[in-house]
Amino acid sequence: MPELPEVETTRRGLTPHVRRRRIAALNVYDRRLRWPVARGLARKVAGQRIERVGRRAKYLLLGLESGTLLLHLGMSGNLRAVPADTPRLKHDHFDLLLDSGLAVRFNDPRRFGSLVYTEGEPGEHPLLARLGPEPFTAAFNAEYLFRITRRRRVAIKQLLMNSNLVVGVGNIYASEALFRARLRPQRQARTLSRADAARLMRAIRAVLRQAIRAGGTTLRDYLKADGSPGYFRQRLYVYERRGRPCRRCGSPVRALTQGQRSTYYCPQCQK
Ligand SMILES: [Zn+2]
Repeated sequence: MPELPEVETTRRGLTPHVRRRRIAALNVYDRRLRWPVARGLARKVAGQRIERVGRRAKYLLLGLESGTLLLHLGMSGNLRAVPADTPRLKHDHFDLLLDSGLAVRFNDPRRFGSLVYTEGEPGEHPLLARLGPEPFTAAFNAEYLFRITRRRRVAIKQLLMNSNLVVGVGNIYASEALFRARLRPQRQARTLSRADAARLMRAIRAVLRQAIRAGGTTLRDYLKADGSPGYFRQRLYVYERRGRPCRRCGSPVRALTQGQRSTYYCPQCQK
């Protein structure tokens, strides 16, 4: 599943191809995404210039002259920038044709992705309005993390994955950040000290930064935004390493299920 680093990598890869370009047409081949692509959307966006390429949580935001396209990759989606006459593949659902002759092409076998348009302030759109702070902003700091863990009995890993509290910390990165912070994923959030919260905040940023630098982590069907298949796996410490030796101490990595998601940790290194 594309997580924040994949989306950010996509944003960075797409930006030089789309910024300041005009949308010549939006061709929708299959409207049946997570929410059906609105009829009439093509008419609304055609002719508009793309002024900004932003991201909020896992949404790509294409800022147009009179509105914003909110694009989500879902469970299995990817975007490529390809010459418009490139033959379509199975599961290519729409093309955003640009005046440069390139098409931004969306492929999504499982169709949990979405394409929504708003003419209002994008941050106030119902999909974005309730999201917590971005991990790289000043609003997400050690004091904030400490404060949101107070009186909460929920396991710290599940708290991290609650996008109303902080966005972008998906399953892989929550496990990896907790390993680096030496905290057990099943620890009740309220038991974290201020020092734990500070260490965890730094670990979250470090893990995400490294993943963005590596161009994302694990998606087999992920393509870089320029269409190249390059994509290399980040070195993971615990994720999907059940029974294998901890890279720090050699103890076997353990796995458990939390909220129907697999969690991995080292029983020696994490307390
Ligand atoms: Zn260990």
